[in-house]
Amino acid sequence: MKHVRVAVVGAGVVGLSTAVCIAEALPHCSVTLLAEKFSPDTTSDGAAGILWPVTLPDIPLERQRSWLKDSFDHLLAIAQSQHSPEAGVMLSSGWTIFKEVPANKKPHFSDLVIGFRNMTDNEMKRFPDHKFGHAFTTLKCECSSYLLWLEKRFRKAGGQVEKRKVNSLQELSNSYDIIVNCSGLGSKTLVGDSEVYPVRGQVLKVEAPWLKHFIRDGDGKTYIYPGIHSVTIGGTRQEDDWRLEVDKGDTQGILERCSQLEPSLSKAKVLSEWVGLRPSRKCPRVEREVVRLQGRSVPVVHNYGHGAWGVTLAWGTAQDALGLVRNASMK
Ligand SMILES: Cc1cc2nc3c(=O)[nH]c(=O)nc-3n(C[C@H](O)[C@H](O)[C@H](O)COP(=O)(O)OP(=O)(O)OC[C@H]3O[C@@H](n4cnc5c(N)ncnc54)[C@H](O)[C@@H]3O)c2cc1C
Repeated sequence: MKHVRVAVVGAGVVGLSTAVCIAEALPHCSVTLLAEKFSPDTTSDGAAGILWPVTLPDIPLERQRSWLKDSFDHLLAIAQSQHSPEAGVMLSSGWTIFKEVPANKKPHFSDLVIGFRNMTDNEMKRFPDHKFGHAFTTLKCECSSYLLWLEKRFRKAGGQVEKRKVNSLQELSNSYDIIVNCSGLGSKTLVGDSEVYPVRGQVLKVEAPWLKHFIRDGDGKTYIYPGIHSVTIGGTRQEDDWRLEVDKGDTQGILERCSQLEPSLSKAKVLSEWVGLRPSRKCPRVEREVVRLQGRSVPVVHNYGHGAWGVTLAWGTAQDALGLVRNASMK
């Protein structure tokens, strides 16, 4: 089989997951990961890191269920292995609570997470402003640990790493046979996708080791996610807001909203504040196109636009991207 040179652009959770999948599954490919920023400086580093069983409006249900299932099974296997502490992946149980009873009390993902059930009246008593809730177990990553662990796994599979900004795909056309674009928000300029936009998110890490269960308001704006070293509380969703500075008003709002759900948070010490820009799009773009670069037709596999769900979907969309790279590499 001919030797194929693959470039993966992007070292967030999507790029690293995709690079690992390709490097491990396709021995006839040499894989180089190129990125302007690596951990701890990517958006993925600051993500709250929970695998949240989301429903995407514009992706066929079967496809999104397979993304979720692949990601869930992958992270569950890590959480239940000896790699769990180094990779920073743990099981996480808790509640999502709703102010109004949702039309569909049993969402499609109820069989993908562990132990899905509706909350009992007794459990709901502590949330007097909410009428209904789901209880289940999912997974949570300490993202910086997870990214470093993925990078280590990628290097072990023979992958090469290069810190570099790619200004145009043209730059890569002589050195690579296939380009995999996992540049997140960078795709706005790198491939001129005007559908990509930022959704600003601010979160805090607090010291509250007594908290073990996640609590998330069904509107997605307020959440409390206990992790291995701290508890992440949030958040904000500010569309088309490019500000990367911490907003003290947002910090205050997060503390107030989260303390309403979990009063003991008023005793928690704030360890850090962080802002990131979610690489949002109507739906993630996971597809192959052939681009004319320097007179050559080069397959470009896109895998970006995961918005608020990059940790949730990365391994699943990486499997699809792997399939697209496999096909392109056989031609
Ligand atoms: C506050 C907050 C909380 C979140 N919580 C969660 C959560 O709990 N669960 C969840 O699933 N998701 C969560 N997310 C969303 C998640 O962070 C993103 O979906 C995810 O990080 C996207 O990963 P990515 O690899 O596509 O992008 P990024 O992490 O942004 O990585 C992009 C990479 O591409 C590189 N790049 C871009 N352009 C170029 C270029 N031209 N040349 C070279 N390199 C380039 C960058 O340097 C970087 O390495 C959260 C996001 C925020 C902001």
